[in-house]
Amino acid sequence: LADGILMGLSLPQTKVTYPWEVAFAAMDNAIMNGAKLMLNAKLTELVKTDEGFEVTINHKKKLKTKAIINAAGAFADQIARLIESQVEYEITPRRGEYFVLDKKVKGFVQHVLYPIPSKKGKGVLIVPQVHGNILVGPTSEFVKEIETLKTTRHGLDSIKRDAQLLAKNIPFDQTIRTFAGIRATSTYKDFYITSILKLRKKLLSTLLV
Ligand SMILES: Cc1cc2nc3c(=O)[nH]c(=O)nc-3n(C[C@H](O)[C@H](O)[C@H](O)COP(=O)(O)OP(=O)(O)OC[C@H]3O[C@@H](n4cnc5c(N)ncnc54)[C@H](O)[C@@H]3O)c2cc1C
Repeated sequence: LADGILMGLSLPQTKVTYPWEVAFAAMDNAIMNGAKLMLNAKLTELVKTDEGFEVTINHKKKLKTKAIINAAGAFADQIARLIESQVEYEITPRRGEYFVLDKKVKGFVQHVLYPIPSKKGKGVLIVPQVHGNILVGPTSEFVKEIETLKTTRHGLDSIKRDAQLLAKNIPFDQTIRTFAGIRATSTYKDFYITSILKLRKKLLSTLLV
């Protein structure tokens, strides 16, 4: 730990997952239960019909469906706007940059190290990964474009500066990769799991009549 740290708070319930494997396992399970996986299939149009919805994939293929679950992450508001005139939230993309350290540094930290969180979030962490690599980051920076996935000199420098408050001699010379991701920060300050606003109103008036 860094010399300036006098005491810490233990958070034994903190867990690290291997997110790709979680996603593969969830998809395997869905396929076993009858789901069909379509890769490279971008929803480009969405129309409400009497029976449900008509979806256009990659500007060509049309599908009919009774229901749609919008789980498009940072693009969820754009998808919602295809059929909703009034979307209750907006996604403001917030970039996070990371260093990935080689597996050789396995054991450099035994636990996820957090600083004291601020208004901006959890702050820069040191995170031992399932396969022995260590992640150091992320930054937190609002960006204009969702596709802004480049790392930046100022972002990576700020990670080095902040991480050194947690641990000394972090082996940044063992960096094998840096990357950036976009968080889907919503203006709706909570989880948003609900039916389409327009259809909800229709349902309510049906119930009232
Ligand atoms: C830097 C950073 C740090 C994070 N740290 C943590 C953390 O410590 N702990 C934690 O729990 N979470 C963390 N998160 C958040 C976590 O990664 C997200 O909450 C999670 O990935 C969201 O999953 P999702 O399935 O909702 O969306 P996504 O994983 O974004 O999936 C949305 C999918 O929809 C697809 N899609 C979009 N538009 C269309 C379209 N038109 N047609 C077809 N498909 C489309 C996309 O291609 C994508 O595959 C972090 C995220 C970032 C970026």
